[in-house]
Amino acid sequence: MQVTELYLFKPYYLLMPRLNKSPRKKPLKNIYLFFLGGVLLLPGFLSFYEQSTVIRSHSIAQVVPASNPIVDSAQLNERKSLFELNLPGQLPLPGEDDWVAQRLLKENGALFVAQGNVVHPPSIIFANASDCANWQAQIKTRREFFSGIPIELQTEAMEALLSARKEAADKKLRITPRGRWAGRRSYRDTEKIWSRRVHSGLAFWQRRGKLSAREATRIRMLAPAGQVKEILQLEAQGLFFSMDFSKSVLYSGTAPGASQHISMLALDINESDQAAVRTILARHGWFQTVISDLPHFTYLGTTQDRLPTLGLKKTVKNRRVYWTPD
Ligand SMILES: [Zn+2]
Repeated sequence: MQVTELYLFKPYYLLMPRLNKSPRKKPLKNIYLFFLGGVLLLPGFLSFYEQSTVIRSHSIAQVVPASNPIVDSAQLNERKSLFELNLPGQLPLPGEDDWVAQRLLKENGALFVAQGNVVHPPSIIFANASDCANWQAQIKTRREFFSGIPIELQTEAMEALLSARKEAADKKLRITPRGRWAGRRSYRDTEKIWSRRVHSGLAFWQRRGKLSAREATRIRMLAPAGQVKEILQLEAQGLFFSMDFSKSVLYSGTAPGASQHISMLALDINESDQAAVRTILARHGWFQTVISDLPHFTYLGTTQDRLPTLGLKKTVKNRRVYWTPD
């Protein structure tokens, strides 16, 4: 045996010194080589196993086969996140330069992985009022009056809400809508809410001397949909447009055409500060999915333990639990 061979097989001699002296040295050496090969191939096998695990956990998450993507090795190679893998197959994903849509999906997109018999909106943001109205007209909904306020939701979301309200009533608790925009909203409703925030924000930052009158007027004159990019750019500089000007406008009334309320899978309630009410809603598939939007709940149609398998991440803030795209 040459010196190089001795070096190569040193572990073998160390591990099996007595066998080394046996006359059946050659076949045993072959067995050793077989195991050595196995050790060298192990990392590759583990990586394959990891990928198989991803595929399995995704297929468990599929409750709506028609709208979920087919996971194949090509998709895994693109390194999509678990959340992206669970998005409806037909949902157009934002391009790399479309940071507005990317941000909306990241901060308000949990509803796109809602399970059960719900229908997901066809895009992250509706382009106009008629596209939005046409889509809403095709969805099966149920309308109920709570505290004299009409609330319309996708049928399954409403049935889950009624069950939650019943459980709450049994425990002497209430779940009531927070105003006439608590449930379904039209494209025009989202425009109105957006414009309120934008106009009061522009006036506030102008008063503070952070924005010139000319710049504020220029933004005010734009169509609501055209203002989104401008406002998010100002927020990137610390000029926030939420109700108290302390955080992003996306946390209190999102961009026109992009509200979860358009999907009729969202509800704002008066009792969101009661932990017992939040627990009951979660038991019936209703979760908080927009961080810091305190009254806002989203119907995700599944149980809390399955949310991570959909690519949703748990955030606890001020003792509230939020589920957002990971
Ligand atoms: Zn809301």
